[in-house]
Amino acid sequence: GGAMAERGAASRPPPDLDTDECLREYRHLFSPDILAGQVAFITGGGSGIGFRIAEIFMRHGCRTVIASRNLQRVSEASKKLVAATGQQCLPLSVDVRQPQTIAAAVDEALKEFKRIDILVNGAAGNFLCPASALSFNAFKTVIDIDTIGTFNTSKVLFEKYFRDHGGVIVNITATLSYRGQALQVHAGSAKAAIDAMTRHLAVEWGPNKIRVNSLAPGPITGTEGYRRLGGRFAEESSHFDVIPLQRAGNKTEIAHSTLYLASCLSSYVTGTTLVVDGGSWLTSANNFPAMLGIASSSAK
Ligand code: NAP
Repeated sequence: GGAMAERGAASRPPPDLDTDECLREYRHLFSPDILAGQVAFITGGGSGIGFRIAEIFMRHGCRTVIASRNLQRVSEASKKLVAATGQQCLPLSVDVRQPQTIAAAVDEALKEFKRIDILVNGAAGNFLCPASALSFNAFKTVIDIDTIGTFNTSKVLFEKYFRDHGGVIVNITATLSYRGQALQVHAGSAKAAIDAMTRHLAVEWGPNKIRVNSLAPGPITGTEGYRRLGGRFAEESSHFDVIPLQRAGNKTEIAHSTLYLASCLSSYVTGTTLVVDGGSWLTSANNFPAMLGIASSSAK
């Protein structure tokens, strides 16, 4: 008989780095050419989860457009991605709240690459705040960036390319609304609306050969979300022991699941939400006073 597989191999995390740097080494699990010749447009691709998604896609033959408000941030990210993967990466400035900036970026991307196959809606804003202290404007801003930004970007891509050529959309959402997570009414509501949008657009755009799915991450190390939402605190106070897989996830794990949803491996999957959280939302504490303690300890 051949080599025995290590116990628990199927839930062992791939190596990752906590910074916005590319992986020093990478072992392909999917076929290295699974996205060969394709182009992905990734909002929020200059940092955190979006950056790692761009890297993993590029390591599978994809060219990328990474777009967010801060052009310097996406330009620096693009240099690192190109150096590590040898693929092309076009950094562009967009504010997903302003459709004309998205339209200009998509025009530029199509001019450069002649096609766009994949859209990843990763741009978002979040922070911990009890509803009682949340300003009207703060709630609205999160809805504007997350929910309306996802609609704006999806619709621009549809009109400019996907309607006639097909495509794949992956919306990065969250599990916050599943149990009414304390201090997260803004982001939980925004992401729940995106999960609804995923189903609506999957229904309307399926005939155009467009698949639309959500991916809902749990706590992911090495991200702004993790830093702002008390990840370190949860680690120190062994909050992660109650997660079924007893740990936080990493960015490469999210990127691998996004690659599955963006590639032909999921050719018959549309209108769904893939939860990638180690089972976290099923068991994690949702205790208002404890969360307030985390909020004050992680406030910047
Ligand atoms: P992040 O690094 O802060 O990513 C957010 C990105 O969105 C940034 O690159 C930011 O770039 C961009 N952005 C924000 N507002 C924008 C706007 N108006 N227009 C265009 N781009 C905008 O955070 P992350 O933690 O990796 O999160 C990535 C995604 O995963 C988000 O959708 C988040 O909700 C989701 N998520 C994360 C976790 C986690 O544990 N980290 C858990 C669940 C879900 P600029 O500042 O340059 O615009």
